[in-house]
Amino acid sequence: MSKILIVEDNEFFAKVMQKAIIERFSYTIDLVATAAEAREKIKNNKYELLIIDLILPDSEGELIEEIALNHNNIIVTTDFEDELTRKKITSLEIIDYIIKSDSSDFSYLLNVIHRINTNENITVLVVEDSLPVRKHIISLLKVQRLNVLTAKDGVEALKVMEENPHGIDLVITDYNMPNMDGLVLLKKLRKKYSIDQLPIITLSALGTESIIARFLKAGANDYILKPFSKEEFFCRINLSLNNLEMLKGAQKAASTDHLTGLHNRYYMHSRLEELSKDKQEKHSLAIVDIDHFKKINDRYGHHTGDLALRFFAIHLLSHFDMKNIIRMGGEEFLIILPGLSINKAVLLLNKLRKEIEEAQFSDENGSIIKFTLSAGIADSESGRCDEAIKRADEYLYRAKENGRNRIEFKGSN
Ligand code: GH3
Ligand code: MG
Ligand code: MG
Ligand code: MG
Repeated sequence: MSKILIVEDNEFFAKVMQKAIIERFSYTIDLVATAAEAREKIKNNKYELLIIDLILPDSEGELIEEIALNHNNIIVTTDFEDELTRKKITSLEIIDYIIKSDSSDFSYLLNVIHRINTNENITVLVVEDSLPVRKHIISLLKVQRLNVLTAKDGVEALKVMEENPHGIDLVITDYNMPNMDGLVLLKKLRKKYSIDQLPIITLSALGTESIIARFLKAGANDYILKPFSKEEFFCRINLSLNNLEMLKGAQKAASTDHLTGLHNRYYMHSRLEELSKDKQEKHSLAIVDIDHFKKINDRYGHHTGDLALRFFAIHLLSHFDMKNIIRMGGEEFLIILPGLSINKAVLLLNKLRKEIEEAQFSDENGSIIKFTLSAGIADSESGRCDEAIKRADEYLYRAKENGRNRIEFKGSN
């Protein structure tokens, strides 16, 4: 497990901070109260983060200056709110600082730690023609553990985006650049990526109200004026990343079925839209329905019915990709078989059907539960999955009529 070192002479504050971190993250924490102990600990251990109090009994900030020379994983805590202290702290290569009186619940500190943890999986594209500014921004982002790609103008940026269609999470772009400026780039990106898919932040020395408004209206998430302080830069980047994360969380919750953890009907539309982009490709679609499911509920209770649905979901996952399984409602599931012919789809579904026929599970009362499934399968014409689903549903109905525990499809009888 990764470790954090807390250097803090206020014992109460240190303990509460330690508790807040442990409750939320899986770190082990070393706690010391002096600079001398901190030096010793750092010499002998590898720490993911160093959370260091500015003023200690044996250091008035020298410890931080000294450690910052070789470590870029420092978060400073301080009692002081004056401008001089702020300037001094932010001039150092540190991740961030927190003012103790502002952080009784540690939510800011916890968010900084959370960002440091997640940023390793986030890639930022920096679009900036000036080499020194580019280098400066890269170094700022790297301290926050973000992955960075660069482009020197809009044209190059579009190329990088094309090469990494799902790999870039945030774009930071300058306004004035040769070949293609930031506004044109923004408009081009917004045609492809919505504001909730890709946050775009503009940086510019030009700060007239009309320009800022133009960017925001064209879909920029934020506009940062140059020159900017390191602190403002981080706060704005973090805000955009937090918003993106919240949005993604909400989207995920909305498209997930809570009982089985599978995707729900809401997700189906985006998945089918994705598939319909390739008009050449034919897909097979199966609607699978548990037979006489109502009887399981009636005989063993609703809770056992829920267990049966979970049991079934696990079997589905062992046969098909999660992105191709959708719980349509109740005990009915849509299976998408991208690029697969009807015949191959029938083979796969029959394998599942036999497996379920032979499988069983026991509920909390020790009752042995068995059930079967029926399915209807149809193939899509030129990307038209909706129509195929309708036909698959008709074949499912036929499978039920013809005795259940069977699969029907075009030409099956
Ligand atoms: P058939 O073979 O014709 O499909 O019969 P069936 O009983 O499986 O189908 P029917 O549509 O008559 O009944 C489905 C039942 O599924 C009714 C509903 O109460 C139950 N059900 C729907 N969602 C859930 C759920 O999330 N949990 C449980 N336990 N039952 C559910
Ligand atoms: Mg102190
Ligand atoms: Mg059923
Ligand atoms: Mg049903």
